[in-house]
Amino acid sequence: MASKVKNVLIVLAHEEKNSFNSALKNIAVETLQKKGWKITISDLYAMKFNPIASRNDITGSPKNPEHFSYADETCSAWKDGYLSEDIVKEQNKLLAADLVIFQFPIFWFGMPAIMKGWIDRVFTRGFAYTFQTMYDNGPFQKKRAVISVTTGGIQSMYSSKGLNGDINVILWPIQHGMLHFTGFQVLSPQISYCPGHASPLIRGQMLEEWKSRLEMIWEEKPVQFVPDSMFDMSFEGGFVLKKEVEDANAESPYGLSVGQHMGKAIPLSEQQKSKKKTVN
Ligand SMILES: Cc1cc2nc3c(=O)[nH]c(=O)nc-3n(C[C@H](O)[C@H](O)[C@H](O)COP(=O)(O)OP(=O)(O)OC[C@H]3O[C@@H](n4cnc5c(N)ncnc54)[C@H](O)[C@@H]3O)c2cc1C
Repeated sequence: MASKVKNVLIVLAHEEKNSFNSALKNIAVETLQKKGWKITISDLYAMKFNPIASRNDITGSPKNPEHFSYADETCSAWKDGYLSEDIVKEQNKLLAADLVIFQFPIFWFGMPAIMKGWIDRVFTRGFAYTFQTMYDNGPFQKKRAVISVTTGGIQSMYSSKGLNGDINVILWPIQHGMLHFTGFQVLSPQISYCPGHASPLIRGQMLEEWKSRLEMIWEEKPVQFVPDSMFDMSFEGGFVLKKEVEDANAESPYGLSVGQHMGKAIPLSEQQKSKKKTVN
């Protein structure tokens, strides 16, 4: 199983080919190609990817030109085959991928706008989610995703006592709201802290760490999220935790996740649980 050829899509958001992000992308290409895996790259700046979700994303007439609803209109266009060609191209890359690597620098506690725009436009309703097909039931449940991020801040700034706040909280919207929401098996994030102020030796170690992780990446267990079965998955029930789950966890000092913290302490290093080795 482990030796089977995998298709990997790398989505890169960095404008500079000599950047550390590009070096992380290059090492991923080199390492995974050596395994015989097939790599496709969406180098968003080089492609001049248009990140703006708009009416222009459908090629036919809108169903409701008076009030253009992006999710409704792109869902119909996806179903009936009149989505903009650049979106379809990226969706096809995604469909072919077993593993998606998102490589980007943290910008304002999130992803660069060009990559957020890729998510906004490529993850159209119907293709990437519906109310019936979300989270554990999402369309991408057979695929894996990993984010590889770099920061300007040093690691301690992103600890649960640090000035910037817990990195698990900062990454939650991406890990849970984008990747888990669409069904991906989400792997632990690869975080290269502050390459800009690290010594050449430390930068080399960060690249080496990513390389050795990639060699065994298919053996990793995905990060755990609270399963859908623990929620009342209906509008009447409000999509909240079932009473029996709340009761069973009433005495626990910790909540269940970064999001489902139930007014308690957030479990420590919640998003890093899939790692075999803890890096602190
Ligand atoms: C708009 C904006 C918002 C930001 N918001 C945040 C934020 O919210 N939080 C935060 O923490 N940071 C933030 N930052 C900082 C940003 O995250 C970092 O600058 C970025 O992550 C650094 O990665 P890089 O690839 O650009 O590094 P680079 O500056 O390209 O590289 C760092 C160093 O690595 C060297 N290098 C390149 N290739 C190699 C190689 N092969 N081997 C060894 N060394 C190499 C480079 O020469 C350089 O010395 C923000 C930056 C911007 C522009």
